[in-house]
Order: sequence, then structure tokens, then C-alpha cells
Amino acid sequence: MIQLKELTKKYGQFAALKELNLTVPRGVLYGLLGPNGAGKTTALRIIAGILQPTAGSVSVGGFDVQKEPERAKSRLGYIPDRPFIYEKLTGGEFLRFVAGLFGQNGAEIDRRIDDLLSVWELTAWRDELLEAYSHGMRQKLIISSALIHKPEVIVVDEPLVGLDPKAAKLLKDIFRGFVDRGGTILMSTHTLEVAEALCDRIAIIQEGRIRAEGTMSDLRREARAGDAGLEEIFLKLTGGHEVRELLEVLGS
Ligand code: ATP
Repeated sequence: MIQLKELTKKYGQFAALKELNLTVPRGVLYGLLGPNGAGKTTALRIIAGILQPTAGSVSVGGFDVQKEPERAKSRLGYIPDRPFIYEKLTGGEFLRFVAGLFGQNGAEIDRRIDDLLSVWELTAWRDELLEAYSHGMRQKLIISSALIHKPEVIVVDEPLVGLDPKAAKLLKDIFRGFVDRGGTILMSTHTLEVAEALCDRIAIIQEGRIRAEGTMSDLRREARAGDAGLEEIFLKLTGGHEVRELLEVLGS
């Protein structure tokens, strides 16, 4: 459903992604993990068609994002880590605007907007300007905007940041339901407990390359980590145990 082939992205001379290969099959909730600066956001932005790769290709639902951007993007809902919103629109106007970008309008979209606002308990805020929304409320609206056109694939960068526990639980349930109905999700996160509990498969990337990939059992095997949890696997594979040793030396 999502396929990255030999994906390279350079910022000037610096290669943030280095011939990255990754396949996210249909019906899978896929976690993308990695240390700060590993290249997660860069990869997700290329999939969403916001950044151009230096080399390699990306397809969504079988459509090449560079060659057939409209077909690829119509299947995709993208939830960025630092979303842009129009402060002077109301919540309802913003969702109608985004639906319009996908060529969707009319009574059915109005009903869907009502449903999404209701799910996130934002109905009373429908006609309020976005400048008055809190951080978490904005996040809920951005998630709603990514779902408005009924995408087959969701690409999401750090989805839980800013959500309260009830909203975080709701989002996890929405994601699970979406995947169980045949949807596909690629999600970057630093919240390892969430990744471990929620994701069917996980890739750990480091310095623009895949360090390990697979189910939790595959990762345990790769890290020779017995029945360890994801935190231990992550630290073992990415060299984080050196930080632990340093903390011991410092006596903390
Ligand atoms: P984090 O977990 O910290 O959000 P990440 O895995 O999402 O990190 P990216 O944001 O993709 O990492 O960044 C990958 C690398 O590319 C980093 O070294 C970053 O400094 C660099 N980078 C990202 N955007 C740019 C840019 N516009 N210009 C130059 N370098 C960039």
C-alpha cells in the first residue's frame, strides 16, 4: 500500500535518507521509530508529497507520488507533526475547506463534519475561530481534516502529542478500527509503549537507514533481546545503552 524504493533525500550535502526501502502492506498499522534526526519526518513528508526526494521513489495505493500526485494524494490522509492552520477560519469552515481541496462538498460532507466534530467533542466549537482553539483541540481538528475524504492510507507524525488521555485512547481505537477494516497506517512515534501495544510491524531507522524491521518477535530476534520490551530493543539497536552507562557513571 505504501512502498519506498531506494529513497534518498539530501539537504545540501547532508543525506537525511540513504537508499531507504520500506513496504507497508494493506491492513497493517506500521510504526516508524528512530532517534532524533533519524529521518522519520523527512520520509513521511516525502510520502505525503510535500518534499521531493533526491533519488528513489514512493508509491501510495500503487500510484507513484511524484508521477501521479493527485491519484496518490486522494488516497492519503496526512497528519503532520507541525500542522499549518488558518487561524481566521472556524473549525467547521476549515474542515469544509479541506474537503473542498479533495473535490468533496455538499450535504454528505456536512454530515461527516458533524460526525467528526462530535466524535472529538468539538461540536460546540464548530463556529469558533481556530485562533481560540487549544493545542489539543487543534490536533483533534487536524486529525479530522486528514480523515475527511475517507482515505485508504493514513500517514501520521507523532499523533499523540498534545492529546489528553481520553482523546489519545480514542485515537488509538480509531486507528485500530481503520486498520481492521483494511486501511493502512504508517505512524512515527517516540512513545514506545504505544508502538509496542498498537503496531503490527515496526521499523527502526537511524541516520537515514533501516536498522531493523518486523514484528516485535522479529525485532527481539534481531536485537538478541530475549523477551525484552521495545525500549530495551530500541536502545540496544540504536546504541542508547551507552547513554545508560553514562548516567550510571554520573551516579543518577
Ligand atoms: P525527530 O525525532 O527529532 O523529529 P526525525 O527522525 O523526524 O527527527 P528529520 O526531521 O527527518 O528527523 O530530520 C532528519 C535530518 O535531516 C536531521 O539531521 C535534520 O537536521 C535534517 N533536516 C531536516 N530538515 C532539514 C532542512 N530543511 N534543511 C536541512 N537539514 C534538514
